[in-house]
Amino acid sequence: MSWQTGLIKTILDPSNWIISTDVAVVIADKFPKARHHYLVIPKADIASIFQLNKTHLPLLEELHLLAHNVIEIRGEKIDNFKIGFHAEPSMQRLHLHVISKDFVSSCLKTKKHWNSFNTQLFLPYDSLYTQLNIEGSIKRLSKVTKEALLATPLKCNQCSFVAKNIPSFKEHLQDHSAL
Ligand code: AMP
Ligand code: ZN
Repeated sequence: MSWQTGLIKTILDPSNWIISTDVAVVIADKFPKARHHYLVIPKADIASIFQLNKTHLPLLEELHLLAHNVIEIRGEKIDNFKIGFHAEPSMQRLHLHVISKDFVSSCLKTKKHWNSFNTQLFLPYDSLYTQLNIEGSIKRLSKVTKEALLATPLKCNQCSFVAKNIPSFKEHLQDHSAL
């Protein structure tokens, strides 16, 4: 089984489920990029956002509800979270990221990790839902756009600080969380 199917393997084991319904499960991300990082994954075999069409809108609403549920179960506030999809996902089976905005984690190691959640490489749930509703499908970003977004400077999501490198950026994010 290739690494791209790791999520499918993980959801086969019920001990990994934080929440399970008829249509989806919620699991913890194995390499969390923040203090809280969960994935909401449908039971239906949908490979990625690029397979979605308008018939999936009710399913997406269910995934979004489960995203809110896991935040509540953890006793956290919805406003402290980002809920959405990677515009260029790497792992198979559609998955909705539910991630806290602190981004304090030993697994956050690269500029790509940061920019994949904090530029247009991250498609907030509402944006994806609207795009699907209006256009009927989700379009891929062009290679040029992706490369430009990946090269975006490390700009803090909580103040105007721009870091020179990942180690200083991680220290900065940690300082916000300690306040
Ligand atoms: P994406 O870039 O949207 O495809 O993100 C895939 C996510 O799955 C990343 O946040 C990884 O940390 C996470 N991940 C990778 N393998 C596993 C696994 N076996 N179980 C749970 N999460 C995983
Ligand atoms: Zn800051």
